[in-house]
Amino acid sequence: MGSSVRKGRAVQQAEPPRRAAKEDFHQVTQNTNNGRAITASRTEDSTKSSTKSKDAELILQIQSYIDKNTVVIFSNTTCSLSTEVKELFKSMKVPYFSLELDQTENGQKLQEALYQLTLETSVPVVFVQQQQIGDYSKTLKAHEEGKLQKLLEMNGPNHLQESYDYDLIVIGGGSGGLAAAKEAVKYDKKVMVLDYVTPTPLGTSWGLGGTCVNVGCIPKKLMHQAALLGQALKDSRKFGWQFTEEVKHSWETMTEAVQNYIGSLNWGYRVALRDNKVTYENAYGEFVGPHTIKATNAKGKEKLYTAEKFIIATGERPRYLNIPGDKEYCISSDDLFSLPYCPGKTLVVGASYVALECAGFLAGIGLDVTVMVRSILLRGFDQEMANKIGEYMEEHGIKFIKQFVPTKVEQIEEGTPGKLKVIAKSTTGSQTIEGEYNTVLLAVGRDACTRKIGLDKVGVKINKISGKIPANDEEQTNVPYIYAIGDVLEDKLELTPVAIQAGRLLTQRLYAGATLKCDYVNVPTTVFTPMEYGACGFSEERALEKFGEDNIEVYHSFFWPLEWTVPGRDNNKCYAKIICNIQDNKRVIGFHVLGPNAGEVTQGFAAAIKCGLTKEQLDSTIGIHPVCAEIFTTLSVTKRSGGNIIQSGC
Ligand code: FAD
Ligand code: NAP
Repeated sequence: MGSSVRKGRAVQQAEPPRRAAKEDFHQVTQNTNNGRAITASRTEDSTKSSTKSKDAELILQIQSYIDKNTVVIFSNTTCSLSTEVKELFKSMKVPYFSLELDQTENGQKLQEALYQLTLETSVPVVFVQQQQIGDYSKTLKAHEEGKLQKLLEMNGPNHLQESYDYDLIVIGGGSGGLAAAKEAVKYDKKVMVLDYVTPTPLGTSWGLGGTCVNVGCIPKKLMHQAALLGQALKDSRKFGWQFTEEVKHSWETMTEAVQNYIGSLNWGYRVALRDNKVTYENAYGEFVGPHTIKATNAKGKEKLYTAEKFIIATGERPRYLNIPGDKEYCISSDDLFSLPYCPGKTLVVGASYVALECAGFLAGIGLDVTVMVRSILLRGFDQEMANKIGEYMEEHGIKFIKQFVPTKVEQIEEGTPGKLKVIAKSTTGSQTIEGEYNTVLLAVGRDACTRKIGLDKVGVKINKISGKIPANDEEQTNVPYIYAIGDVLEDKLELTPVAIQAGRLLTQRLYAGATLKCDYVNVPTTVFTPMEYGACGFSEERALEKFGEDNIEVYHSFFWPLEWTVPGRDNNKCYAKIICNIQDNKRVIGFHVLGPNAGEVTQGFAAAIKCGLTKEQLDSTIGIHPVCAEIFTTLSVTKRSGGNIIQSGC
């Protein structure tokens, strides 16, 4: 007998059906015996052991659905008998897990494995309490004879599953939550999304879609574009454009245009939910007991809903400093993008993504901007790149106050904008400074929205300090029916595409029999500072720490975008760097680029890195001329060599 069959049997014997079998029904193990006989004869004929182990894996996959669920229906979305069987359980108000084989990766192979396990030749195939009921007619017969009902009650009424209002309730209609909800309805699930925006201390609020759309990526990138256009206007004179009018920027026009676009996205999301038959409530969700959530709308009206499963996708909100005057007079990124007046002279507090990006576009549209940095720029990023970003910003007129933190904000003058006095203290000594600004933008990090959603009522653990939710590699919390995705997750990246990918894959695993997990490694990212920075993989310092100096080779070069040569600006400011692991065929483990369109450049290289890109493969790739990204196909100077990396032309 093939090893795969033995492996299969061992697991099946080690994990017998959890409940005593009724004599009317075959036990899974009995059927497995049958299945084994067939598996044996088939596998003995087979010459390929990999095929055998694949069969065993599929049988184990099917077995795990049976073990984990009270009622399992192996079904097919186009099969009317499958639909009737599901209707039967619905009419009994018994929740079931259905695996739609025609919608499942490996569906055909799973169906063959199902046959091996059950000897049933067609779907639906039904299991109740880990016992095989059989096909459509056997299930109907068992129901008519009251045997289904008996099986469902066999561990007492407490073990009879309740009927829930929804299969899935998603708390939070942002990037992750909406992606998960829209995916779940594809598998015939009844889904609700609760989304509610608690206004900022200054009263700013917005529509459906979460942070990215309303107060994150989208308005940020559009305002960054406004700044780039300002630069393009200056460059254009060198390219022959002549204009006599004074060039001015209107904050109000930009903000209105950006907000109009956001409004269209909010509307689009609502329509998409309605078209997909996802129930949407603009209400705040809070667990009040197992499988039960309270939804409170803006008028304070409360409703209770139950669901078999929940996904927490409540995201994060900006943190405040807890110093006098911060909530009264300062704004956060949640207020900035819809601010009805131009912020004027601005102090940005913080030195990471949000702070530097906002400081960048505010300066780019012509405002007087100062950044107050507590320690370093862009913690967690390659520090050589971070410092080059800082230098470029300083050269382009942004002021930096380093190693200082605000201690108090006072209002000097009311107005839109008014005038504020900021008192700050040194983080390295006792020095105190003060300054006057029209606006103070706090960008000092974000807190997970997990402390006021009743997680204690259902026993979901959070990290007490960060408020983040720990989860396993399937985004499942310590409470099996509650999952978490996106920014609320502990030790995961806070990026829109990550939240979307995690949400989609989670729902496919929950409802479509998929097994693919979200891969959080080598996620590319871009910081949209005036000089954009794209990165994927290890920073130089992390690579040094992990592999040791002798085992990494760093290739680097400055470059000068052709488009910048005619205006004659910023030569040798753009910079490319890759980090290779010498011990692993010089595989590229870190990719860093400072330059225009860094996100566009990084995206493609990230795919190559995922495929295991080596330095040799990069060198054998022919560049596209004349573009910035071609520099990565010709990198030849190692840092170790100390060679010259200044570029003098193309
Ligand atoms: P969110 O999108 O934040 O959605 C959570 C939703 O849940 C919100 O609508 C919230 O109001 C709601 N909610 C909270 N509590 C409840 C409750 N109890 N009941 C009902 N609803 C609730 N990422 C990128 O990839 N690229 C970028 O360029 C980028 N730029 C950014 C710029 C800024 C200024 C910021 C702040 C973030 C940026 N991000 C960017 C990060 C990105 O926005 C987030 O990673 C992403 O939005 C996270 O998605 P999420 O689904 O986890 O949460
Ligand atoms: P962050 O990465 O947590 O950075 C917080 C910054 O505030 C740090 O510079 C920190 O300094 C500083 N800070 C914290 N407490 C402070 C205090 N009391 N006084 C002064 N400074 C203080 O937060 P973020 O910039 O808000 O970004 C949050 C997440 O959003 C990011 O991790 C990112 O994933 C996502 N995001 C992505 C993009 C993008 O993809 N382009 C853009 C924006 C945001 P220290 O270093 O000293 O701690």
